[in-house]
Amino acid sequence: MTHVITAICLRDTACVDVCPVECIIPGKPESEWPWLYIDPDTCIDCGACVPECPYEAIFPEDEVPTAYTMKAGQYLADTKANLPDGKPLDGDVGGHKVKVENAKAPGAGFVIDLTPATELNKAFFKEGPGYSAKG
Ligand code: SF4
Ligand code: SF4
Repeated sequence: MTHVITAICLRDTACVDVCPVECIIPGKPESEWPWLYIDPDTCIDCGACVPECPYEAIFPEDEVPTAYTMKAGQYLADTKANLPDGKPLDGDVGGHKVKVENAKAPGAGFVIDLTPATELNKAFFKEGPGYSAKG
């Protein structure tokens, strides 16, 4: 299995350093790959990254919510294509420095399916620059 980073990732990179197998990679360019991604072939499912994430964006693959209820002040980040009414976010969110190209806070009670992240994470390592960089 693997763990999966979802659309509530705001790229503060808090998860990167705790991963014992260094499989969490920032997506670039951010306009195409707005989150950090977990290499499913390398992740050992240790779970160390989960409590490090201030926005609770990381889930075991089989627990990614199909109907996640957002909290007040919580952001979604995505590409302009998927989140056309988003805006750049650069600053402090809950005491953590974030900088993302396109995000919005839909408000408490907004329900979203976070499971598309699973395929996107896989796609990043098949198609994205992270895969190329690994050779
Ligand atoms: S679950 Fe463990 S191995 Fe997998 S990405 Fe998180 S810290 Fe790394
Ligand atoms: S800690 Fe959470 S929000 Fe920060 S980069 Fe990692 S997954 Fe994204």
